[in-house]
Amino acid sequence: MSGLSGRLQNLVTRIARAASDAGRDPAGIRLLAVSKTWPAGSVREAAAAGQHAFGENYVQEGVAKVEALADLNLEWHFIGPLQSNKTRPVANSFAWVHSIDRLKIAQRLSEQRDVFLPPLQVCIQVNVSGEESKSGVSPAELPELARAVVALPRLKLRGLMTIPEPTSDVTLQRERFATLRRLMAQLRADGLDLDTLSMGMSDDLEAAIAEGSTMVRVGTAIFGSRNYTN
Ligand SMILES: *Cc1c(COP(=O)(O)O)cnc(C)c1O
Repeated sequence: MSGLSGRLQNLVTRIARAASDAGRDPAGIRLLAVSKTWPAGSVREAAAAGQHAFGENYVQEGVAKVEALADLNLEWHFIGPLQSNKTRPVANSFAWVHSIDRLKIAQRLSEQRDVFLPPLQVCIQVNVSGEESKSGVSPAELPELARAVVALPRLKLRGLMTIPEPTSDVTLQRERFATLRRLMAQLRADGLDLDTLSMGMSDDLEAAIAEGSTMVRVGTAIFGSRNYTN
């Protein structure tokens, strides 16, 4: 067994244990393998080990991998910051976008999504830590943006995504993820049909699963440490 497929198996076990500790069915938690900075060959290896959904952060790099691996019929998620002049390739190469943080981006994605493709599945990214520099809408701006995104014809709003500030304080991790869970519950109570909480990464997925995550986005624990100089 290769290093990668062993790490992937360990991760599946780790997710199942976190689900069981939280009294949840592990089938309710999807694993998104974050392959940014890793070559197409690493994705191919993970796919051979049974992984189906992959996340990318950078437009050019992501689109190149989508094209190089088209034979595998993988499900591609765009999870990075998105500039409005780069929406077109994302609208048509990816099945999901997790990082919607303003209406202009959502409108462009909806206009540019090919009519022959199913609607683009999207999450709104929320800044639950209140840090100035972080991307994501504030909780206060969320309801208005969510209602506007739901009205766009070529998008399907599935839920919310967050990247909290890194901390080893598990209580704080849980507090941030609980904030996202409550924000989605409020939108659902207001009538929006949402089912996805995209939260939890290599270092905090237990806390995210305890607070209701339905999709964890994991890079390092599968592929190893990233080398950004590549
Ligand atoms: C890089 C990245 C991840 C994966 O982080 P790891 O710590 O490597 O698991 C998850 N989500 C987003 C948005 C990322 O940019």
